Amino acid sequence: MSLDLKALVRTIPDYPKKGILFRDITTLIEHPEGFKQSVEQIAERYRGQGFTHVAGIEARGFIFGAGVAIAMGVGFVPVRKKGKLPGETIGQNYALEYGVDTIEIHADVLGAGNKVLLVDDLIATGGTAIAAVGLLRRTGATVEDAAFVIDLPEIGGAAKLEAEGVTVNALMA
Ligand code: 5GP
Repeated sequence: MSLDLKALVRTIPDYPKKGILFRDITTLIEHPEGFKQSVEQIAERYRGQGFTHVAGIEARGFIFGAGVAIAMGVGFVPVRKKGKLPGETIGQNYALEYGVDTIEIHADVLGAGNKVLLVDDLIATGGTAIAAVGLLRRTGATVEDAAFVIDLPEIGGAAKLEAEGVTVNALMA
């Protein structure tokens, strides 16, 4: 039976600061069927299309991305915050509301001939996902698809990511 996944996501007001309505996915992943169905629904959409890897964005993208990679039978590439990966890395800066952040991947992952599905829990401005796509593409890999549990369409990130040549899907808005 298919669950109402949206009903399992709760909204927390004023987190991480006043005026923000934070979509909290911990209640979704705590629910065994909810977690399973969210991962399964993403994997189902992309199976049999030649994907070699799922890339997940730290930290909530690891939770869903790892599940999707296992369900699709492909490898997992962590896109990490600066300074967390032990080997040689390549990095990409991206703008935050106040300041700049950096994401990194290992310099020797992926490369031409690999086809990557990007996974994260949520897309808002699209800044994080666009930076991740740019970084993954620098290895020579093909990145033309991104899957999110939640899209906030009024913020417009999915449209920006689509303009970068990435087809975006989300389980809920
Ligand atoms: P963007 O770069 O698209 O503006 O923000 C998306 C990133 O910030 C994602 O990695 C996501 O995990 C995190 N994020 C921003 N707002 C929320 C939110 O309301 N809920 C959750 N779960 N993550 C958020």
